[in-house]
Amino acid sequence: MPEILDHPACNGAAHELLSSNRADSRLAPLFIGHQIYRQAAYGSNHPLAIPRVESVMDLCRALGWLGQSELRESRRASMDELAWFHASDYVQALRHASETGRVDFEARRRYAIGTMENPLFPGVFERAATSVGGSILAAELALEGRIAFHPAGGMHHGRPDRASGFCYFNDPVFAILAFLKAGLERVVYIDLDAHHGDGVQGAFARDARVRTISLHEQGRWPYSGDIADTGEGRACNLSVPAQINDSELGVLLEEVVSPLTQTAAPQALVVTCGADALDGDPLSSMQLSNLALWSAVERIATLAPAVVVLGGGGYNPWTLARYWSGLWGRLSGRDIPRKLPAEALAILRGLRCDLIDDEDVRAEWLTTLSDQPNRGAVRDEIKALAVRALAGVDESAWVPAAVRAPMQTAAAGRKELR
Ligand SMILES: [Zn+2]
Repeated sequence: MPEILDHPACNGAAHELLSSNRADSRLAPLFIGHQIYRQAAYGSNHPLAIPRVESVMDLCRALGWLGQSELRESRRASMDELAWFHASDYVQALRHASETGRVDFEARRRYAIGTMENPLFPGVFERAATSVGGSILAAELALEGRIAFHPAGGMHHGRPDRASGFCYFNDPVFAILAFLKAGLERVVYIDLDAHHGDGVQGAFARDARVRTISLHEQGRWPYSGDIADTGEGRACNLSVPAQINDSELGVLLEEVVSPLTQTAAPQALVVTCGADALDGDPLSSMQLSNLALWSAVERIATLAPAVVVLGGGGYNPWTLARYWSGLWGRLSGRDIPRKLPAEALAILRGLRCDLIDDEDVRAEWLTTLSDQPNRGAVRDEIKALAVRALAGVDESAWVPAAVRAPMQTAAAGRKELR
């Protein structure tokens, strides 16, 4: 374990920073949504052509968890805002393709739009720009002292000049940029989606103000984010073996994610919560319960004063709706009910998915919100991964200079006292 992690002064500094921003001192959390997510998207035969944000909003309403005062309508990012990160020719090309419903060969090749992966559909530009606007708004609300929950966000693969992995614009990047533009100097991004948060890591590879931690499944698209990939010393990649269970997530959270986040002393955090990390997702084989992920996000949300919680991937409409609805419930202080009201049951029963056969739809997906915990043995590979991740941290790059200096002074002071 590197020295930084058991450095008492360092932990003390992080602790002091956190003591002023406990969740209980925050204003009530806010849910960011928009009607645009009710419109059909991605065409047919696409993994994202399933009910997602709309079923989460409906389920939360059915549970009495989404009063008007808790909901904010996402705004749409302006062309100027989109230019914070995306190349203007790409933004123009997507807008043009969205308006005309057509993309020529050259634009398809250059921007990866109008493909099977990133299809054109009516309103694609507006939808993508709305998710960016929602993530900027989320950062603004987080700076007011609220947890901002934006389940339509988390499109973490988008590149500056092209679409990638079902993502046209990279809204998590914009939440982070909004924090930086507000003057913050230490932001941590944590990605719990089943796939590597490559677009976000790449966006801030040379920005000393941002650290990224991605926990994702080994051997999955986009095949980056190996444990050895530490970026410029400010990235931590936990590429986990298939079938990760709740106990293993707990170990990685407590031994790697939390301490590394604390040593980076973030002023703000952005968390992507892809629902494809759940057991039962058709595009991954992670086996986490929603209970474990709710607890993980709650824990992470205590690690910085300003917190944005985004959605992400997730291709099973039942597990996604239960995860993100329950996550909002937990973040907003509700108890998860054992029995669901009839209206909520009807929403779960009404979901459909081409990727999952009817006989594979589990009874609990239709009748409950919370999974059974999936505790299990912590495999040696997971323990080795934690050790390797910590050993790979370059203290001089990971711990921000502004935090390191007072820590060293504090440590020196402590020595003198002895
Ligand atoms: Zn994913």
